[in-house]
Amino acid sequence: MASTPFDPPLAIRDPDMARLIDDERVRQHQKLRMIPSENYASRAVLEATGSVLNNKYSEGYAGKRYYEGQQIIDVVERLAIDRVKALFGVDHVNVQPYSGSPANLAVYLAFCNPGDVVMGMGLPAGGHLTHGWSVSITGKYFRSVAYGVRRDDHRIDLDEVRRLARESKPKILWVGATAYPRTLDYAAFAEIAREVGAVLCADIAHISGLVIGRAHPSPVGLAEVVTSTTHKTFRGPRGGMILCDAKHASAIDKAVFPGLQGGPHNSNTAAIAVAAHEAAQPEFGAYAHQVVANAKTLAEGLVARGLSLVTGGTDNHLVLADLSPKGVPGKVAARALDRAGVVVNYNSVPFDTRKPFDPSGIRLGTPALTTRGMREAEMSRVAEWIARIVDHPEDEATIERTRGEVAEVCASFPAPGLGLD
Ligand SMILES: *Cc1c(COP(=O)(O)O)cnc(C)c1O
Repeated sequence: MASTPFDPPLAIRDPDMARLIDDERVRQHQKLRMIPSENYASRAVLEATGSVLNNKYSEGYAGKRYYEGQQIIDVVERLAIDRVKALFGVDHVNVQPYSGSPANLAVYLAFCNPGDVVMGMGLPAGGHLTHGWSVSITGKYFRSVAYGVRRDDHRIDLDEVRRLARESKPKILWVGATAYPRTLDYAAFAEIAREVGAVLCADIAHISGLVIGRAHPSPVGLAEVVTSTTHKTFRGPRGGMILCDAKHASAIDKAVFPGLQGGPHNSNTAAIAVAAHEAAQPEFGAYAHQVVANAKTLAEGLVARGLSLVTGGTDNHLVLADLSPKGVPGKVAARALDRAGVVVNYNSVPFDTRKPFDPSGIRLGTPALTTRGMREAEMSRVAEWIARIVDHPEDEATIERTRGEVAEVCASFPAPGLGLD
């Protein structure tokens, strides 16, 4: 070429990084991605995420900004808000949180002072770090009380929640989880919160797509505040959002900005709007229900092959398998599965006797596979592969054979967003 291009594409500007991104694109095509928090965002979502909106600063909210030049951005953010409001039927929405954790932190800032009592599900039972776990800022700056699950059936013990709430009188009560395979009873939590004067906050980070698609009950109308990520079952960009009753709108908005953050990530705001538009299509409800149907088939297939599941099965998008009866640590199984082309994460199980960094379980989810179009027939095969590897995690021939079968299925189910169509 005679001259250097004015605006070279990534492959020319930084071939090393372009190659890494391409390698990851291939990995996402060739493997069965079963980490329940992961998914495939559509090409449209990825385009908005990588757009020129990245270049704009917009501290404040539509109509009340601290920088000029918001003619377009105000419309973008209002559109995102209106679409999310319509999806959930909620009074107020803030789409500026940088991710799920900052969204939750903003809720603490809106309702608590340092040292106040807060209550959430403990991490070992399936709760999230940001619900007051000790190593998180939410456990260090607040006096946090954790509820768990019952020893016998591994389900949330509402009697324990009520007892602890009455004793400790938390300012906020979290309902939501990151590794809990069952439906959450928002009405029961709302009753407990009302009795003790707590603000009920539902964290639907994992299940917001299921809620929109009516494959899990909605907390809207029962929880005064609802937080979510936007990149899990919702299938949007990395981001967070807070939904709330009108009476909390100003407290939530002030907590996000100027309380916690500076300028919103406008390209992500646009991509949230795109994801909300996609979630408003009739196909989205079918996707949400298929995610659950796939998880149920996966769970049945694993149980049939002798695996022990926390709570015995699932109502949602994820399955938590306790491998201790098999005598295989979660990490050993997860590593062998990855080599066979099935990507999961090792995870603690309730009352785990092993350490969090070397726990007894693996956590599996169906959202990404469902987005690729896989259904019950594929889930039965996946269950067979997982059980096979768990039974022979050190058998190279088994791993090799499984990798071939996995690659074959992946080749027939191209994922959105990878530019393979
Ligand atoms: C994933 C998750 C979060 C945090 O989201 P990040 O975007 O990773 O910060 C918060 N709460 C729950 C229940 C989650 O599963």
